Amino acid sequence: MVVTRFAPSPTGYLHIGGLRTALFSYLWARKNNGKFLLRIEDTDKKRNSKEATEAILKAFEWLGLESDGEIVYQSERDAIYKKYIDQLLAEGKAYKCYMTKEELDALREEQMANKQRAKYDGRYRDFKGTPPEGVEPVIRIKAPLSGEIVVHDGVKGDVVFQAEDILDDFIIARSDGSPTYNFVVAVDDALMGINEVIRGDDHLSNTPKQIVVYEALGFDIPNYYHVPMIHNQQGKKLSKRDGATDVMAYKEMGYLPEALLNFLVRLGWSHGDQEIFSMEEMKELFDPKDINKSASIYNTEKLDWLNAHYIKNTPNDKIAELLTDFGVMLSSHDKKEILLDALKERAKTLKELANMVQEIINEPKEYDEKAMKKAFKGDAVKILELFANRLEEAGELHLPSEYHHVMEQVIDELGIGFGKIGQPLRVALLGKMGGPGLDVVMAVIGKDEVLVRIAKALVKKTAMDLEA
Ligand code: GLU
Repeated sequence: MVVTRFAPSPTGYLHIGGLRTALFSYLWARKNNGKFLLRIEDTDKKRNSKEATEAILKAFEWLGLESDGEIVYQSERDAIYKKYIDQLLAEGKAYKCYMTKEELDALREEQMANKQRAKYDGRYRDFKGTPPEGVEPVIRIKAPLSGEIVVHDGVKGDVVFQAEDILDDFIIARSDGSPTYNFVVAVDDALMGINEVIRGDDHLSNTPKQIVVYEALGFDIPNYYHVPMIHNQQGKKLSKRDGATDVMAYKEMGYLPEALLNFLVRLGWSHGDQEIFSMEEMKELFDPKDINKSASIYNTEKLDWLNAHYIKNTPNDKIAELLTDFGVMLSSHDKKEILLDALKERAKTLKELANMVQEIINEPKEYDEKAMKKAFKGDAVKILELFANRLEEAGELHLPSEYHHVMEQVIDELGIGFGKIGQPLRVALLGKMGGPGLDVVMAVIGKDEVLVRIAKALVKKTAMDLEA
């Protein structure tokens, strides 16, 4: 059975790059009817990892990514780590090192002066004497002194590390007994039964050390897939300046989870030239063997395009519900369908959509003076007055087509082009140019409100004339 995991360090929020590898791991597990486990790497006691962990779980919930089984917290596993450290000590695969900080610093300086790589010299590796007094030892693992460590990576191929160059007998437990990063990752991955590790390639250099731990403990080494980083348009590692890095910021900006996940799956993975993937398709098609070998480029336009696609294809009831987060209460509006059908086509984000809705259902707070001047040239006032009259006479109106019909009536009556009525009416209703069809706007706000807005715009026009 395929068992994958996501192992975030709770540092404040769920990072977009982390989410991408989480998604890959999730998809790969789901595709194989395997398990996707979540492990919180919260060993850094200085950080407020509780809140940060909640932020990660909240993001997962928003995105609909469920993990299987209990969440594993490294902070609760000290006894387990200790057991394996003791085992290695007992088997002579790890040892206590009594080198003081001063001695280590002196060794480093000497190595640097000789232009050598700073490296522990193994002086306690086979130490049999009496330990110096007053030094709390660290515990080091016996790493191979020579030879190669090969990471068989499903993305990068075989990556060969020379033991001599990269390994020394690295510390697996500090002098206070706390285990170190690479040790706990390897122990946890092994005990959790993780057999497919998909993670960022910033971790590739940790992998040989983790393999040393696996081998010392006699665990099976998992398959690794190290995913190249996400870059910005300038080819640099993605940073806060390039857009949001916090996943929940995408929610606040009005992105749909489907769009964000679709966007992320295509960052570094492809299936032919297909761009749009439903969750079902992702689960069916994702394969880590198709992860790209080179860095992927973050592209906001692509995300916007996908988001627009998903907004368009989300039922109006659902959209109305989502818009409440943006201060728009449409759920019981009787013209919700007409309004959202018209606006959904035009919005890149829910936030944008919310603004568009507000601009229609609330009367204009102000009028764009330039638009006003342009639209109210010539006979505009008379045309609007006539339109208002015809509207009043028209009885009950509901549909956009019924409002359209009244506009046409005025057009025919006066023998004018559509723009002659359309422009001033638009500015009267919305305060500016742009926006969806006027017939839709009118159907949504209703006849009384149309008449009120026309009257107010005419007052404004008179005031402007007086000022001029
Ligand atoms: N905790 C690590 C991180 O947040 C990931 C560890 C791993 O995937 O092996 O970067």
